[in-house]
Amino acid sequence: MTRPRRVGVLALQGDFREHLAALRACEVEGVPIRLARDLDAVDALILPGGESTTMERLMEPSLRQAIGLRTQAGMPVMGTCAGMILMAKRVEDGRGDQQPLGLMDIDVRRNAYGRQVDSFEAEVESDAIGGSGPAVFIRAPQVTEHGPEVVPLASHAGQEVAMVQGKRLALAFHPELTPDRRWHQYFLSLDGERR
Ligand code: GLN
Repeated sequence: MTRPRRVGVLALQGDFREHLAALRACEVEGVPIRLARDLDAVDALILPGGESTTMERLMEPSLRQAIGLRTQAGMPVMGTCAGMILMAKRVEDGRGDQQPLGLMDIDVRRNAYGRQVDSFEAEVESDAIGGSGPAVFIRAPQVTEHGPEVVPLASHAGQEVAMVQGKRLALAFHPELTPDRRWHQYFLSLDGERR
């Protein structure tokens, strides 16, 4: 089974350092991605948690385009929290001008958990990680609709919180903020399984 050898992490804003550390723990080289040409050096990409509107604003049009083209060509991509929002086709309750990358056939609602519970940790169970594991939710998005090619992998309190479409993986929570590396390992396995 092949695994990506070098994995890019969008490094414009948010917790990209935690993803780079998680990749190190998985013994894979992580590469910070800021410009379109940085993508040439990697064979998979992670869009981190943070603030999706800020990341969109800081993203050069050429990088945006390169991510779209590489993804269409089969590059595995994982988006966590704000990264999931970036992967969506449509964002509800975004700032009117929010333009996600449209990498997966999902619609999301930002900050969908009310104020009272806007951040929490829960145990989330999934065959993808062979059991249950800790999941940190911070002003997390919810998926309101998805297309038939999107396969739900985990849910919490009646909400789907992890899903995969081909080699694209979206998580509403932050696997990079726990020491549990199974979601990263699952992402790294997608390339070999679904070539
Ligand atoms: N609410 C943030 C957004 O809209 C996401 C929060 C997060 O990544 N923890 O981008």
